[in-house]
Amino acid sequence: MPMRCEKIKHNEVQCKAYAMFQSRFCFWHCPKAEEKRNEARKKGGLNRRKDYGGIIINYKIKSYRDIQQLLEIVINKLMKGDCTPREARAIGYLCNLARNLRDVAHWESIDYPGSGQEQTHPQN
Ligand SMILES: [Zn+2]
Repeated sequence: MPMRCEKIKHNEVQCKAYAMFQSRFCFWHCPKAEEKRNEARKKGGLNRRKDYGGIIINYKIKSYRDIQQLLEIVINKLMKGDCTPREARAIGYLCNLARNLRDVAHWESIDYPGSGQEQTHPQN
């Protein structure tokens, strides 16, 4: 039967992972596997980065209308399955921040791209 990793973790509980071949520790706790661990972490980071390849490229938000159009694009992409709900949520969240920033700029009479030419207050 394979041995369990001997590492006692910070919470004083022994690691429950199986030990690596000819080692007393699992992959994540074996001192000799540090280089391979770092490689694995790096690969994991690179794989995760692929998720953010960008569903919309070269889109610049300069006005409230651009935010509206971006949301329409994202909604259509989501309905066609061309982007993930996670991506759509992230863009929706950022659009909301941009809109809020624009509203604050409007209230404080700060010059914000698009104000004056577009609707002055999108919610009213
Ligand atoms: Zn372990």
